[in-house]
Amino acid sequence: MTQANPTHHTNTNKSSITQTISTEIKSVSFIGLGAMGYLMATHLVGKFDTVMVYNRTSAKAEQHAKEFGSQAVSLEQAATADVIFSCLPTSNEVDAIIAKVLPHIHSGSVWVDCTSGVPAQAKAANTKLQQQGCYFLDAPVSGQTTGAKAGTLTVMVGGEAQALNHAYPAIDCFAGLIEHVGASGAGFAVKAVNNTLFAINAWACAEGLSVLKAHGVNPSSALTCINHSSGQSMASSNTFPNRIINRQFPKTFTIDLMAKDCGIAMDLQSEKKLPTPVMAQVASLIRAASMQHDIGSADFSEFAKFYESWTTLTLQDE
Ligand code: NDP
Repeated sequence: MTQANPTHHTNTNKSSITQTISTEIKSVSFIGLGAMGYLMATHLVGKFDTVMVYNRTSAKAEQHAKEFGSQAVSLEQAATADVIFSCLPTSNEVDAIIAKVLPHIHSGSVWVDCTSGVPAQAKAANTKLQQQGCYFLDAPVSGQTTGAKAGTLTVMVGGEAQALNHAYPAIDCFAGLIEHVGASGAGFAVKAVNNTLFAINAWACAEGLSVLKAHGVNPSSALTCINHSSGQSMASSNTFPNRIINRQFPKTFTIDLMAKDCGIAMDLQSEKKLPTPVMAQVASLIRAASMQHDIGSADFSEFAKFYESWTTLTLQDE
């Protein structure tokens, strides 16, 4: 039986995790082989008796099967697994798929949704699945496509501890950290706030580097100092050198998905009537930047080009 990896953390007592896994996972499936899903699903192969993959564009699932030895199946077949993963653009696509396959889901199975989704929709999906003796975990991931490829993603999980206990060995295949952050919806909430914090850092970094460039400092020289100082962030150490300063803007996480995440965080603050002026402003700026592009056509790092159109300064070295 595959055991939970003791190097990972959840809020649940570790020893109780292994004790309460009563059912061995025999079959897993992955629905949505996009930039993230395609790579995440590879880590499941060889760990369970049956590893099924489904993708709307079936050629991608067939390619996955050919490349990694998974089994390309229909959506209905994918829904019969003990642990069902999904990683789709938004909660709306997940809801539509659950509605379609509900009669095929076995009692006792756990649906692990790795989409960056909407907390209220996670709660509704969990209620719907529980009526059928199943569970829904919101389990969004962070770590970009590099983390998906390496199997080191951070997974923030909302939902019943019992369901996480059951699905843990399968989630563990692509995780560097698994944290049970609370009840249904809590995982999606943490993910939305995380990405908004990242957007704030990225936007602020574009402003700071532009000021320095206007004063004759090359962005790379400035980043060498900043990345060894208190202004360092993921944006300054990774996004700017590897995507923006080198003018590569590789498309791995689209700007419309980033705008969606910031929008979810805004809905959360609005629901609780909290003042969050910095988050709100940057969410709005990222939305404006995303509207410069067709859906799915530009990487999130292209927000910098939008800002450059204001300053007329290009964030590259002279
Ligand atoms: P992609 O756009 O690369 O992939 C989306 C996947 O969803 C594709 O497999 C696509 O199928 C499928 N899909 C889209 N619409 C439908 C539909 N109506 N019915 C069925 N399948 C559909 O997205 P990502 O992999 O980049 O992102 C997925 C989720 O993960 C998002 O919520 C995102 O915010 C989150 N995320 C992304 C990260 C990244 O770095 N890319 C990092 C962390 C989280 P098809 O091939 O047919 O188009």
